[in-house]
Amino acid sequence: MLNSTRQITAKDAATSYLEVNGSVLRDNVRLLSEMAGQGIKTMAVVKANAYGHGASGVARALAGKITALGVATVEEAVNLRKDGIITPILVFAPVRRDTLADYRSFNLVATVGSFEELRMISPSMSFHLEFDTGMGRLGFYPEDWPEIRQEVESRQLNPSGIMTHFACADSPSHAKTLQQIDDLNELIRNMDEHARGKLIHASNSGGLLFYKQARYNMVRFGISMYGFSPSETYALPGLKPVMQWKTRVCATKAIHTGGTVSYEASWAAPEDGWLIVLPVGYADGLPRALSNRIVMRAGNKTLPQTGNITMDYTMLFCRDYIETGTEVTIMGDGAMQADEWAAMTGTIPYEILCGIHAKIERRLV
Ligand SMILES: *Cc1c(COP(=O)(O)O)cnc(C)c1O
Repeated sequence: MLNSTRQITAKDAATSYLEVNGSVLRDNVRLLSEMAGQGIKTMAVVKANAYGHGASGVARALAGKITALGVATVEEAVNLRKDGIITPILVFAPVRRDTLADYRSFNLVATVGSFEELRMISPSMSFHLEFDTGMGRLGFYPEDWPEIRQEVESRQLNPSGIMTHFACADSPSHAKTLQQIDDLNELIRNMDEHARGKLIHASNSGGLLFYKQARYNMVRFGISMYGFSPSETYALPGLKPVMQWKTRVCATKAIHTGGTVSYEASWAAPEDGWLIVLPVGYADGLPRALSNRIVMRAGNKTLPQTGNITMDYTMLFCRDYIETGTEVTIMGDGAMQADEWAAMTGTIPYEILCGIHAKIERRLV
């Protein structure tokens, strides 16, 4: 209802928009920070346009509430800086020669996970060492430490942090995660004075929720901050989805019993009623695989989505007439949430959220 009194612009009528609720976001972050515990630093992960929520808006909403931001690429970090975000930023991507200058110019912290990268780093650069304790992606192996140490000492490099990333933290007591924690602990012991005073971080949302012993002195949360569980099995008490995907009815017309809707005529009206057309489709990130399987919310009515979702349009059926311009919640309160869509399409909420097209306006409310 937040925008119900807002002037409807031509753009609203022709497209969809995301409402990103800054106070819900801050409530989630407060809860997660309390869960992490006193003195534990917090990194809000805002890669992939803040999981579709709009990175600069999210970063602005969280200014002063978190220690740092985490992004996937230098480009994402630079965009945040250009939008006036001054929070420390850690870039997860491997360092490349052609992005080295940006780390300096935009005051970014690098993640270094290979000797090739380590050789590019200069003593004045701020970076974290990433170790692959079992993720099988980026990072040094813990057994590389003696060689890293030589390079660090001989060139007087100054890593400010040590990190690893969990492969299986989305359920409690997973053997893989327990092994990763053991290996990180052993590495920290081996690093001895080189680990002292450094930021040490391993936990994503799953790590924070399910592995109390893996908080070290900083946690990195993404999906949970946006209100979704990293796990299909474990709900998150207290955390609420931050995003509502909304649009307005762009056309409405009578449909008679037996009238079919959309490509392949996959749905036919069971009774006389109204066909509601929305200007949103799979080009916007509404998965076509959800066709005929979801409901959306229009005013006080929950309506079935009917017929195949098309590239730019999606249809609903309603017994009663609904005016053109009526606000419809595609995903969010009263409609279905990203985790429900994910379960229906065999994926995870992460993919649904960051699949919402970048062209769609994000409105921080
Ligand atoms: C994406 C990411 C996170 C956040 O993961 P969530 O499961 O969304 O909490 C943390 N750390 C790294 C390195 C990541 O790439």
